[in-house]
Amino acid sequence: PLKVGEIERREPGPHDVVIDIAYAGICHSDIHQAREEWFSSLFPMVPGHEIAGTVAAVGSDVTKFSVGDRVGVGVFVESCQECENCAKGLENYCLRGFTPTYNGKLPNGEPTLGGYSQQIVVEDTYVLRIPDGLELDVAAPLLCAGITTYSPLREWGAGPGVKVGVLGLGGLGHMGVQFVKATTAATVIAVDQKPAALELAKKVGADHTVLSNQDAATAIRDLTNGRGADVVLDFVGAEATMKLAMGVARGLADVTIVGIAGGTFPFTFFSQGYEISLQTIYWGSRPELIELLNLASRGLVHSETTVYSLDNGIQAYHDLHEGKVQGRAVIVP
Ligand code: NAD
Repeated sequence: PLKVGEIERREPGPHDVVIDIAYAGICHSDIHQAREEWFSSLFPMVPGHEIAGTVAAVGSDVTKFSVGDRVGVGVFVESCQECENCAKGLENYCLRGFTPTYNGKLPNGEPTLGGYSQQIVVEDTYVLRIPDGLELDVAAPLLCAGITTYSPLREWGAGPGVKVGVLGLGGLGHMGVQFVKATTAATVIAVDQKPAALELAKKVGADHTVLSNQDAATAIRDLTNGRGADVVLDFVGAEATMKLAMGVARGLADVTIVGIAGGTFPFTFFSQGYEISLQTIYWGSRPELIELLNLASRGLVHSETTVYSLDNGIQAYHDLHEGKVQGRAVIVP
């Protein structure tokens, strides 16, 4: 269970930025890690990797930021900066492994503690400027949910007639639908287990909705005249949704698994019978995130947020776990 307590942040070094946190989004990954659903976690834990706030102080060598600037921090706060992936700006795929914003350790052994807190100290390289015109509560969820849906969608081009299946319409999925509709003329079929999530899907532009506890595969095939989906984005990652994703993908389709609900990928060659391109994705790069924040400041995507106080964090976790949050829950520390 979450509880409110006191932590100490490090004294800022020459390259550090001290941030007063205004909002921290609650990603389902926070719940997976607090519940140790992925691997052993480090406790005590302060979750939170969708952080938006203002600069409270800067170290002596920081030139990019000044006190009062509006800034954000996403999923990681350190990477090797030497490997070929870091050199390409793909620190999310750092070959040594990045240091996550929480539930990790910096190379000097300091444990990282995340955004459900009043302040954080982060090296300037990993701090992002939030453009004018983008409210901080809307910006926070972009720093994980937004970028993780934007990154795979900018990989493929989709024109009229393309059918996109979006599975899981929570924090990530409701942004995924918006990106597809804002950047392509594709048709979106949204699938979720909760009717309220499907209502949100319609509100943000989904063309069709399918409740997953009916025969979702048949429903999707009917909606595509028996053809199947050209692109499937699985924002759940459970065994059932991965099976559905592969089951409704037409020949030569692109299937992206984003959700990490612990399912084992249900693939045997002949069960498929088609050529499918399959990818997984882990967050997105900083250059993509800068691009996304700028697009969002021009209204490309809007995060539906439900705001909770820090004291009410336990309720927020409960609501998210029970699927009662529409869009993104955001904590005000
Ligand atoms: P969320 O709780 O906000 O949304 C999940 C949605 O999926 C809910 O609407 C829920 O009703 C629906 N759902 C759950 N099980 C379902 C099922 N069997 N069939 C149909 N719908 C189902 O979660 P979120 O914050 O959007 O995160 C989604 C997943 O993505 C999590 O597993 C999270 O850890 C993962 N994630 C991955 C990355 C990455 O880099 N790959 C980044 C962020 C989050």
